[in-house]
Amino acid sequence: MSYETVIGLEIHAELLTLTKVFCGCSADFGGEENTRVCPRCSGMPGSLPLFGRGAAELAIKAGLALNCKINNFSAFDRKNYFYPDLPKAYQITQFNYPICTDGFVDICTKKIRINRIHIEEDAGKLIHDDELGLSLADYNRCGIPLIEIVTEPDIRSAEEAKQFTAAVALALKYAGVCDAKMEQGSLRCDVNISVMPKGSKVFGTRTEIKNLNSLRSIGRAIEYEYSRQTELCERGERVIQQTLHWNDALGVTKALRSKEEAHDYRYFPEPDIPPLFITDEEIKAIKNTMPEMPKEKKERYLKMGLTPADADLLIFDKALADFYDEAVKCYNNPKSVASMIIVELLRRMNDLSLPAAELKITPSDFAELCKMADDGTVSRGAAKDILKQMLEVGGSPMEIAEKGGMLMSNDTSAVEAAADEILAANPKAVEEYKAGSAKVFGFLMGQMCRSLGRSANPAIVKKVLEEKLNS
Ligand SMILES: [Zn+2]
Repeated sequence: MSYETVIGLEIHAELLTLTKVFCGCSADFGGEENTRVCPRCSGMPGSLPLFGRGAAELAIKAGLALNCKINNFSAFDRKNYFYPDLPKAYQITQFNYPICTDGFVDICTKKIRINRIHIEEDAGKLIHDDELGLSLADYNRCGIPLIEIVTEPDIRSAEEAKQFTAAVALALKYAGVCDAKMEQGSLRCDVNISVMPKGSKVFGTRTEIKNLNSLRSIGRAIEYEYSRQTELCERGERVIQQTLHWNDALGVTKALRSKEEAHDYRYFPEPDIPPLFITDEEIKAIKNTMPEMPKEKKERYLKMGLTPADADLLIFDKALADFYDEAVKCYNNPKSVASMIIVELLRRMNDLSLPAAELKITPSDFAELCKMADDGTVSRGAAKDILKQMLEVGGSPMEIAEKGGMLMSNDTSAVEAAADEILAANPKAVEEYKAGSAKVFGFLMGQMCRSLGRSANPAIVKKVLEEKLNS
């Protein structure tokens, strides 16, 4: 029998606030263990949470970026559970009244619906030391604001899950909501997955794989769990509803605990934080601050004449897309600038492991280089060398070209003198050319360029050489 996978995702994204959500501790990544904690986020009895509205604003931006309805009323609840990384023994979250609902994200093949986005606080981190046989708790992450993005079970394959997660990560980065550094855990994904016979309308029993922190592990974990569940079904055994941990090194899922239902958490309204009222005017004001999103940018790039693949390459890295936009403002030749970025700049950036955000070249210098290559001020080959120097040493393209003698000469007298000399030195080639051999022209061009060096303008050299040969 063939089976179909049914997948829903819960994506946790850390919000880019300066402080934690209910206290003034720093929300930066890392730091010496347990130095970014206070009585509020470490759950001391009698301490009260203070909600910072900055987190609400970022959650609203996330909702707008993911096509959600922003709710005028939302409220906080307590989710009760005991775990060593959660010193309060409950997590403040939004259960009954989330801040955003009913969104969607378009991926290549289809629309994936988003059920809700709610605000909650992150837990701390446990560090397991196998040598000492100890688990240590670091509470620096406790209380960092998160949004949880919950999809409908619309995803049908590992590929779709990866595409959706990548699209969400990019949208959140563009909106300035989350840095989406999966390797640092600022964006992580829980996968709910079940299988059912192809064509069935009844979903199978689902398992939940927790805390996947790369697109690759999302894909691998889904493939593995699909095989495991279909094998159980083939043998006539039941899939048990449970929470699983993905072991990336071994490439297997392992049961953590039986899956909890909502009632296990004894949710109740959080008594220490008033509900959140957001007016339509406030939502509109936030909407007005939203930057151009990846989808709009792509439409604009296609209109400028870029291919979909080139547009995607630029958009994938927001810093690079911003660089491109600035460069095109200085030199309005979108295709030429895109081609110089994609063919030359990206390759060199990869070689130097240089992220676009750390580029020292200014967009206007880069634009000037593109223009110089296009109008024949320097040759294409020289432009590549100039770019290399701009990246490694710095400097403006014109300065580098002048210093390196790379400006193409438009002075025909030097070219004519060189042509006379070369034709005189190669009478056999001239004879062959006159007898109709076109091949020999390339040889003579090569001799000319060698004699004239980098300043030779190939168009002028060709013209002069042709004139001399045909005279
Ligand atoms: Zn604190």
